[in-house]
Amino acid sequence: MKISCKPFELILKHPFSISKFTRTSTPLILLKIQYEDVIGYGEASMVPYMGESYESAAAFIGNVDLSPFKYPFNFDEIISYLDTVAPGQPAIKAAIDIALNDINGKIQRKPCYEIYGADLAKMPVTSYTIGIDTPEVIREKLKDAADFKVIKVKLGRDNDREIIQTIRSMTNVPLYVDANQGWSDRIKAIDLIYWLHDQGVVLIEQPMDKNDLDGNAWLTHRSPVPLLADEAVQRLGDMERLKGAYHGINIKLMKSCGMYEGNQMILKARSFGMKVLIGCMSETSCATLAAAALAPLCNWADLDGPWLTINNPFANPVFENGKYILNDSPGLGLEGITSDLFL
Ligand code: MG
Repeated sequence: MKISCKPFELILKHPFSISKFTRTSTPLILLKIQYEDVIGYGEASMVPYMGESYESAAAFIGNVDLSPFKYPFNFDEIISYLDTVAPGQPAIKAAIDIALNDINGKIQRKPCYEIYGADLAKMPVTSYTIGIDTPEVIREKLKDAADFKVIKVKLGRDNDREIIQTIRSMTNVPLYVDANQGWSDRIKAIDLIYWLHDQGVVLIEQPMDKNDLDGNAWLTHRSPVPLLADEAVQRLGDMERLKGAYHGINIKLMKSCGMYEGNQMILKARSFGMKVLIGCMSETSCATLAAAALAPLCNWADLDGPWLTINNPFANPVFENGKYILNDSPGLGLEGITSDLFL
């Protein structure tokens, strides 16, 4: 199996602010693996706060040797091996996993969703994310969101109620809220959560600091809205300690090292009685189609990456009535691949 990869700068439609920072583009690695005559495609989205970069990804790939593995679908062995190459670096590991899943589907002549047992009739709607901004800009962004049935709102600064009121002056669609650890006072937070519940908010991500397990658990035991761990959970091994502290988790392939472990996290969450949101970073169609293949196994989806960027190099996913419409091509079903994107 031969890996090749190339950097790509994914430009955001609007400068994106969450509670702790602002940015205008995201560095990606577009990656290709060849196994016999089958090619699989993958992607690493390296948002700065996760600590990966072009340099770290290139160094990692330089140290990976998949030649001892006879089959691309020995996911358990291959992911364990990748963890021995270097700790962390989940995004570049995800790129390899996604490409291997694409190959696996192509060998089996089945779409990835079928391999994971996902029933397309259960595809959840995908939300459209609006970052923290002034009321004027939020009104502009809401116009871009017209095709979406749910809006996800970034909160966590001092104007949370104003942002919600601005959105509610324009639309009555259900809202997801992502506090990105922005709330620190339990009493104020639970008071706000009850108010958000009355405003039609149906889930809240990462209300308090990811290390404040007690604070988040305190809210979970009182909240009328499901509270989900996001920053507090990356991989399967993080889940045990979160049991009881949140109603659910937010899985992202760029945290879970891809589809294989992402699916294991979904199964573990079910065994804990937890709900699952599958989300994305700033990603092209490649990684979001991989996540969409698992989305019918989850309660909610937030896979708006291709619509928040202006230079998705692939065909945009097919999107109707607020949902991904996956095709029945073997593998990821990624379309619009041009030779200049990959080495
Ligand atoms: Mg989040």
